Amino acid sequence: MTVPSPPWRAGTKAAGRRSEAVRLVLEGRSLAEVRKELALTVVDERCVEDHLLELAAAERRGGQQGPAVRAVQREFGAEHDEQAVPPPPEPPMPPQVAEALAAFRACLGMHPTPEQPGHRQLAWSVHTGRMARVGVVAYTCAECVPISYELCTAGGLMFVRRTDRTKTRPEVSVSEYLPGARVRALWARLLAGQAR
Ligand SMILES: [Zn+2]
Repeated sequence: MTVPSPPWRAGTKAAGRRSEAVRLVLEGRSLAEVRKELALTVVDERCVEDHLLELAAAERRGGQQGPAVRAVQREFGAEHDEQAVPPPPEPPMPPQVAEALAAFRACLGMHPTPEQPGHRQLAWSVHTGRMARVGVVAYTCAECVPISYELCTAGGLMFVRRTDRTKTRPEVSVSEYLPGARVRALWARLLAGQAR
């Protein structure tokens, strides 16, 4: 039996909480208890529920009634478990599409497209000082993606702020400060994976 992997990207705090929640529920703990203990967000909880349903579906495909089926029956009742019976298999998806779809199902936040071949490398300068009176116009998801971006305005100009949480301490860097139209174009390229 193939065990479905979680729809969240590993290595973030949210991923840690969600994986731990799934582990505890499969051990027999109630989701309500686990929600409180791990301070799960609404998005976390939906992700955990979706993943439990997928695990239960995989167990059923494998002809088993394992811990996931028991957890789903306990948490959602038999009615939901029926819905966990999988539809016929679909043709395989390219990994990039699968990743984007999984992230979209799990989170309604904005996720930039992975960087595309030939993307433009932007000049990021590490930001150390205090940033005064910055308005955030748009932002990408900071929950399930370790590097997030904010479209900011300050002093009549705009810039993009980047926060990298892959290191021990989050590292904030900023793009050039430019007139709005240029930064909006840059933001669009960033979301499309054509700039990083
Ligand atoms: Zn997200």
